This record gives sequence, structure tokens and C-alpha cells, in this order.
Amino acid sequence: MQFRNLKIVDHIVFGRGSFNQLDEIIAPHRKGDFPMIFFLDHFFIGKPLASRIPLRGKDKIVYVDVTHEPKTKQVDALAAELKAEFGEVSGIIGIGGGSSLDLAKAVSLMMTNPGSSADYQGWDLVKLPGVYKVGIPTLSGTGAEVSRTTVLTGPTRKLGMNSDHTPFNQIVLDPELIKNAPANQRFYTGMDCYIHCIESLEGTFLNEFSKSYGEKALDLCRKVFVEKDSWDEESDAQLMMASYAGGMSIAYSQVGVAHAVSYGLSYLLGTKHGIGNCIVMNHLQDYYPAGVEEFKFMVEKNKIEIPTGICAGLTEEQFESMINVSMGMKPLWENALGKDWEKIMTREKLRALYDKL
Ligand code: NAD
Ligand code: ZN
Repeated sequence: MQFRNLKIVDHIVFGRGSFNQLDEIIAPHRKGDFPMIFFLDHFFIGKPLASRIPLRGKDKIVYVDVTHEPKTKQVDALAAELKAEFGEVSGIIGIGGGSSLDLAKAVSLMMTNPGSSADYQGWDLVKLPGVYKVGIPTLSGTGAEVSRTTVLTGPTRKLGMNSDHTPFNQIVLDPELIKNAPANQRFYTGMDCYIHCIESLEGTFLNEFSKSYGEKALDLCRKVFVEKDSWDEESDAQLMMASYAGGMSIAYSQVGVAHAVSYGLSYLLGTKHGIGNCIVMNHLQDYYPAGVEEFKFMVEKNKIEIPTGICAGLTEEQFESMINVSMGMKPLWENALGKDWEKIMTREKLRALYDKL
């Protein structure tokens, strides 16, 4: 038995208003006059958060377009622009949802590793540490702040750059930054965390490490989405910690059916991760009966719309392509259904499931 030697984030600061410490936190990591580059989610153009960024010297804010999930082409272009403008940078600080955090991680790695980010989609292909990188979430749920991956859509696949060099050197968890997220977006991203917990806790890879974090994260998700009747300051902090703990849970286990199926949707249709997971979870009663029942309750209680009929009118070829992407997620299926998963989840069954979405 080979046990995973998990690399995690180096430093964490948590607390309402902790964003104000950013200048002080990054100061020791400045290299001469090479700039710190702030990747700020384009949602914050013209918003107060932009003017709170502690710019010094040649530091620059780059507004990142996260209309679509990050692509290897986008990562390569951002890295090339920074190299052309500055040669080197002191660090990259991602501020935003999971997409902005992933862009920051990936570009940090591509400032030092040669070639295209597409060359590193897979497991442990990244050879060199990237530049200093910091993650500051403004949405909570994905666990991207703690994970050792950055999910990218490349020319041939949607797959992360999974490596020990991928986790952030520093994260700043400031619950105040998520307080104004719109209820729908907050729910979709929050459900990513809920689904991480269900998939981890119901999976065959489960162990006490993952279980400890998964149970805590699930408990926090229930506090905010099941028990409370209105959102408050405490909810921001609870959801932020749920995302962290949920991320730690899957880091030492794996996700499952909802993610494996939703990856196919996002590869073919560009469906975003959070909402895609929700669309799939709505139909997984055969796999996660209690989780799906509670999920439906939360959808209703929080008055959220989950899209339906998104696979209507797809061609046979398109279904095949989604099935191929999904079936390729072997560890996810094995975690969900066990070693003999291929006997349980046949192409026909998966096709029938996609038909329902
Ligand atoms: P997101 O980053 O894609 O952002 C969704 C939308 O919300 C965007 O329009 C964004 O501009 C906006 N937004 C961000 N913060 C906001 C705020 N405070 N108020 C209002 N709007 C705000 O959403 P997400 O769900 O956090 O992240 C999904 C992404 O994360 C996907 O690209 C997915 O692949 C990735 N992901 C990564 C990991 C990982 O481990 N690296 C895990 C899960 C998901
Ligand atoms: Zn997820």
C-alpha cells in the first residue's frame, strides 16, 4: 500500500478583514523591483475591492475574464504577456472565484516551466515550482484555494495540472469578500462543496482523514443551506470554512459520479462547474439517495432554479464525446462504484443519464 504524501498550502490567514494584511503578508516575497501581479476577477472592475489592492512599484492589476472556465490557451497567453512586459515577476495573487484562483496557480507555474500549460495536464508532470502565488477567494465552495490542481480545458481534454507545485504558498480567507455574492452563484458554488462531501463520504476511497474534514464541511453546508432562514455574517465564515474542509476531504480521497458526469457537460457544452454539478446531482438518486434528497430540499428552500433539458437536441456524436470524457475519469468512477465500476456504469447507462439532463 502506497500512502499519499499530501502537499498542502504553506500559509493561511483567516478572518473578517484579513484582506487588509495583504501588503504586509506579501512584502517579504518581493524580489527586487519585480512586480506583484494581481489577477482580479473581472466582476470587480470598478468595485471598491479593486482600490483596496496594495499596489507598489511596478505592481499591476490584471482583470481576468472568467466568462468561460480557464483554458490552456488563456493561461499561456497571460504568462507570455507577463514575460514580455516584465521578464520576471515576484508573484501572482489570484482574487476571485475558483476560475480566477486556477488562473493564478496555472500562470504562476507557467512563469517558470517551459512549453504550454497543455503539456502539464495530468498528474505530477510539472517539474519546477512556479513563482510565489497567493489565493484569495471571493466565492466559496470549489476548494480551489486548497487543492493541488488547477482545472484547465485544453486542446484535447479538460484536466488539471495536478502536482506538488500547484498549491498556493499563501491563502487569505476573508469572509467579508464573499458577502455580496448573488444568491444563485453562491448556491451553485456552495453546492460544489456539498457534492464534494457527499462524493467523498460515500466513496470507496474514504479514510478517517477525509471523513473528518468531509463531515465537518457537510455540517457547515447544512448550517447555511438547510438550517438557517436567512444569510448572515456567520454564514459567510461558515461557507468559507466548509469550502476549505471540503477541499481537504477530497484531497485525500476523490470525487465521484456527479463530477465525472459534469466534466462531460463542461467539455462539450461549456457548462460551468458549479451549475453543471447541480444539474447532474438532481438525477443521481440511484447513487446518492440521501444526498440527492437533501440537495433537492436545499434547492427548494433557497429558491434556486436548476436548468433542465440541456442535452436536448444533441447529436449522437456529441453524446459519444461526453461519454468518452466522462468514462475517462477512471479514479472518480472507481471511488464512486468500486474496482468493478465498468460493470456497473456502462456506456448505455451513462447515455441514459445524459439524456435526462
Ligand atoms: P467562477 O470563478 O467561475 O465565477 C463565477 C462567476 O461569479 C463569474 O462570473 C465571476 O466573475 C463571479 N464572481 C466571483 N466572485 C464574485 C462575487 N464575490 N460576487 C459576485 N460575483 C462574483 O466560480 P466558482 O464556482 O468559484 O469556480 C468554478 C471554477 O473553479 C471552474 O473553472 C472550475 O473548473 C474550478 N474548480 C477548480 C477546482 C480546483 O481544485 N482547482 C475545484 C473545483 C472547481
Ligand atoms: Zn467540484
